[in-house]
Amino acid sequence: MYFCDELRKNRAITSFFSCSGCCAPACSLIWRAATLAAGPVGGVPLLFSLLRLIQPLADTYRHRGQRRALVTLLRGQRGIRDERVLAALGAVPRHLFFESAFEAHAYQDKAFPIGEGQTISQPSTVAYQTELLGVQPGHRLLEIGTGSGYQFAVLCQLAENVQSIEFNPVLFERGRQRLAALGLPTAGLHLGDGSLGLPALAPFDGILVTAGAPALPPSLLRQLRIGGRLVVPVGAADPGQQQLLRITREGPESYVREQLGDCRFVPLRGAAGWAV
Ligand code: SAM
Repeated sequence: MYFCDELRKNRAITSFFSCSGCCAPACSLIWRAATLAAGPVGGVPLLFSLLRLIQPLADTYRHRGQRRALVTLLRGQRGIRDERVLAALGAVPRHLFFESAFEAHAYQDKAFPIGEGQTISQPSTVAYQTELLGVQPGHRLLEIGTGSGYQFAVLCQLAENVQSIEFNPVLFERGRQRLAALGLPTAGLHLGDGSLGLPALAPFDGILVTAGAPALPPSLLRQLRIGGRLVVPVGAADPGQQQLLRITREGPESYVREQLGDCRFVPLRGAAGWAV
C-alpha cells in the first residue's frame, strides 16, 4: 500500500529504501545531480551532505533481518496471530522512527523515548492493539497520539483511510516531516486534542488510542460506526495501573466492552484526558 505499493508483493519498503551500501536508484540520481550541480571539485562536499540527509532513510539487509527476527518473536512468544498485522510490522522500518544514535534499540520489543516526555510504543503493543482493531482494507481508522508516526505507518499498510491526531506541536511537526520523507500520506495528520476525536471525519471503523485515558472518552464512543471498535487503555495515570479495553459498537446505544489485561501507557491529555 505505502512504502512503494509493494506490500502486496511482499517486498514493501525494502525495494525503495534498500541501501546496504549506496546502490538504490535514488542514491545514484542524487549522486549524479550533486556532481553536475557543483562541478568536479565542489561536488564532493555537497554530495556528502546530501548523502548524510538520505543515509538515515537506509533500510539495509541488517535492518531487514532484525525486522524478520522481531516478527518471529511477535508471532511466537507474543502470540500475534493476524498475518496481515505481522506483515505490516515486517514492512515498516522502525529504526527510521528513531534518532540514528539510538537505532540499535529499534528492533527490541520495548518502548523508547521520543522526546517531550513521550515514547514510541513497544512493537508487541503496536501489533496487539492493531490486531484488536480487526482492520479491513476499506476501513476508516483514527489513531489518537501520533507520536513518532510509527503506529500510523503500520495502520497505513492495512487501510487506505487513516487519520491521526497529536496533541504536542513539537512531536506533531517532527512526525509530519518524518512521515513525509517516508512517502506516507500526511494529509491524514492533525494537530489537536484527540480525546475529542475527529467529529468532522467520523464515523470510524476503528479508533486506536495510544495514551491512557482516565475513563472512556464519550466523543470517541459516539464517533464509532456501528460494528466499529475502539481500543483504548483506561485507568490511573500511573503506568501499570491501566486496563486495555476494546469497545465494539453494536447499535446506536449498544456497546460491548472487553477487558484485555493490564497495560502501561503515557497519560492521555486534553478535555477527556488528564489535566495538562
Ligand atoms: N503512536 C505513537 C508512536 O507510534 O510513536 C506513540 C504514542 S505515545 C505512547 C502517546 C502519544 O499520545 C504522545 O505523542 C502524546 O503526545 C499523545 N497524546 C496525549 N494526549 C493526547 C491527546 N489528547 N490528543 C492527541 N494526542 C495525545
